[in-house]
Amino acid sequence: MSKLMILLVEDEESLASFIQSELQFEGYRVVWAKDGQEALEIFNEQAVDLLLLDWMLPKYDGLTVARRIRKASAVPIIMMTARNQTTDIVSGLDAGLDDYLTKPFDIEELFARIRVIERRLSKQEEIVLT
Ligand code: CA
Repeated sequence: MSKLMILLVEDEESLASFIQSELQFEGYRVVWAKDGQEALEIFNEQAVDLLLLDWMLPKYDGLTVARRIRKASAVPIIMMTARNQTTDIVSGLDAGLDDYLTKPFDIEELFARIRVIERRLSKQEEIVLT
């Protein structure tokens, strides 16, 4: 399976550019959206395999973006946020998130969680092929 196309949605530019370069170094393709509206526009235009989604965003927040995308797509979504209250995590997962990463996080943990999603996607691909 070729490396995933990741839509990174993060309004904090320095963090976004750090994550983007780390992901690209690992061989992933990355497009960056700086707010919720841009995220939805890019998602509608490009074949995205995975969303890395910040919660607190200008225009539409991450939860709104996740809910809108879930209406039309089963694309994996990992939320990245400083919100670590159980109620936030529960409402995020109930809104259709696949995973939840509390900021600040170690980039190695993000990679590991992406690999979990990759394994799941490649299993689905095998099932489709057989
Ligand atoms: Ca933010």
